[in-house]
Amino acid sequence: MKYWKKRTAREIQERIELALSQNRSFYDQPILGLPASHLDSRIFPRESPILTGAPFLQTLINNPNHIGCHTVTQSEETFAGTHDIERELLRMIACDIFKADEEEFDGYVASGGTEANIQAVWIYREFFRREYGAELQEIGLFTSVDTHYSISKASNLLNIPLYKIDVDEKNRQMAENTIEEALEKAKSEGIRYVIFIGNMMTTMFGSVDPIEPIVRALKASNLEYKLHYDCAYGGFYYPFANPNTQIDFSNPELNSLTIDAHKMVQAPYGTGIFLIRKGFMHYTHNKDASYVQGEDYTLVGSRSGANAIAVWMILSTYGKYGWTEKTFILTRRTDWLCEQLEDMDIEYFRQAYSNIVTIHEKYITPELAKKYYVVPDNHHQAKWYKLIIMDHVDLEQLEPFLKDLKELNFNP
Ligand SMILES: *Cc1c(COP(=O)(O)O)cnc(C)c1O
Repeated sequence: MKYWKKRTAREIQERIELALSQNRSFYDQPILGLPASHLDSRIFPRESPILTGAPFLQTLINNPNHIGCHTVTQSEETFAGTHDIERELLRMIACDIFKADEEEFDGYVASGGTEANIQAVWIYREFFRREYGAELQEIGLFTSVDTHYSISKASNLLNIPLYKIDVDEKNRQMAENTIEEALEKAKSEGIRYVIFIGNMMTTMFGSVDPIEPIVRALKASNLEYKLHYDCAYGGFYYPFANPNTQIDFSNPELNSLTIDAHKMVQAPYGTGIFLIRKGFMHYTHNKDASYVQGEDYTLVGSRSGANAIAVWMILSTYGKYGWTEKTFILTRRTDWLCEQLEDMDIEYFRQAYSNIVTIHEKYITPELAKKYYVVPDNHHQAKWYKLIIMDHVDLEQLEPFLKDLKELNFNP
């Protein structure tokens, strides 16, 4: 752990005030040529008392634009101060959670996991076209049936076919031979280049795809491939709950990943994070963005600098050990929930260490689901309902649910 330090509220405030002072200010300094300003002062006055000691809100009203990718180039120097904080944030995550070497990664704070996933697929599509002269119909996008729907958006937008690989109903994993068969079948259909998406905690089941069987199957296929992991949900949870996970940049096969701060980290929406090894962002370099200093490499365009500040503040407040402790509490609560379900002989799925518990629909009525807002896999025909043990889902919240569940199943 080199970069992720715990900081006091005062240190955090001083660091952000410094960053804001290094930005050019719409309030006090000439900025004559940007289609931007501070937030509207009639609605968001600069002197409002709620801004005192609130560096996130101060950044929000100052309204720095983080357009571009600041790990690749120096972007708009007007906002260089807060761009530095975004770079610090990415370094904490890439190096101290995902074991990247310093300066060996690029990335940015995207609008969400959806964008970060699409960015990855976009980069690899362009990589295969440029480096291998690949045709669109020769590039296949492969992932498990449990994968988030953002991957099917990527397939549709980028016009490359999607191959969904079945999982075992019991452990929600793709068997190695099932992956091999899917690759062989695609090969016979003319696929020569593979973009593979693994998962670190799927949205519905919290399941994690082990990296080794995927890599072995990819190698056995003799196809060219790139491997991205979708850690949108699990990236800020699983590496802490299971420190033995092999899914990080110390594995040379992993090329990029998505990690959302607006889920487990409780940051504001607009904080999906994209990380990739050096040497790939230029495949989506847009030189038409010539009026933007540093040009653009990202899908989104303009984005709020306050988002990066929010995530940086949260992680800095906890520090890595504080964060580990937080996930430990959620893991223990989930253990407790599972023990209660076992006492009632109610079957459930839980990936080891995960804080998602999925219960078969035969134990749950739509009324019960509605009362506690447990979420079905399909709102038209539910097969599974999930509970996610977030910060606010404590034992006090779980107990009445368990009581009703017991009543429903044992005193019908
Ligand atoms: C939530 C989620 C996404 C999409 O993230 P958004 O931030 O909602 O765009 C992608 N993948 C997984 C696994 C997710 O849980």
